[in-house]
Amino acid sequence: MIIAVYGKGGVGKSTVTSNLAVAMAKLGKKVLQIGCDPKSDSTFTIAGRMIPTVVEILDAHNYHYESIEPENLVVAGYAGVHVVETGGPPAGSGCGGYVVGETVKLLERLDLMTSYDIILFDVLGDVVCGGFATPLQYADLACVVSSNDFDALFAANRICESIVEKNASGYDVKFAGVIGNRCDQTELLETFTRRTESPLLGVVPRAETIRQSRVQGFTVFELEDMGEPVQELTTEFKRIAAHLISKPPGVIPDVVGTREMFELFRGE
Ligand code: ADP
Ligand code: MG
Repeated sequence: MIIAVYGKGGVGKSTVTSNLAVAMAKLGKKVLQIGCDPKSDSTFTIAGRMIPTVVEILDAHNYHYESIEPENLVVAGYAGVHVVETGGPPAGSGCGGYVVGETVKLLERLDLMTSYDIILFDVLGDVVCGGFATPLQYADLACVVSSNDFDALFAANRICESIVEKNASGYDVKFAGVIGNRCDQTELLETFTRRTESPLLGVVPRAETIRQSRVQGFTVFELEDMGEPVQELTTEFKRIAAHLISKPPGVIPDVVGTREMFELFRGE
């Protein structure tokens, strides 16, 4: 099953995705996490280091795709999770989304798209244009990480629009729902999920241990191994992970008009 995780920049996509990847591995699944952000740090918390990106690997192989083997591309990290980073073009030139499409082609050529129980794409979603929407063409489910903020939910709505658009173009991707992150309150998240008829999959609180674990290159599961009191967090990640691997049917969201978005939360 392929799951694409989207969300506004900085909302915690990579933090949530990598913790879900480890949770799924701990639940017995063979997991591949693909970082699809030119920032290239999606899998830092799994590998414990910045791994070579697809762009760097292609460069090192003089763009001879056929000379690239799975072991050149995939790194095994914590809890046996496999990771790939697409990387991006040089700042200010090229198209980051194009790199995502090329990565998928490379993974398909190496038969890696069918070698895992779960593939998680971690995709930036401020603007889901062209290439950054590519994972939706492969995904069975998409979910959105969002804080309890207007701008994060505005991006979430755009991602919902992309899901509707992909279905209209014949792709069969369903919206699994919203994962609240860095949330002390949830009222806007609840309004949005109710209005769009989408599930609220879970809520991860703002936690200093998560912020620190990210800097140190760990998921909270590694902190748990080290004896830190993070059970509340690992339990929530495992609960969301268990739900996603149970293959929920998902929905086609009832998207909000752009102008309506500005009215939706008034009076909250
Ligand atoms: P994105 O991938 O969406 O750009 P990141 O996962 O890199 O976002 O997170 C951005 C920053 O927010 C990171 O420094 C991370 O440590 C911090 N962060 C993410 N989730 C939480 C949380 N639940 N509590 C505290 N800090 C968080
Ligand atoms: Mg990220």
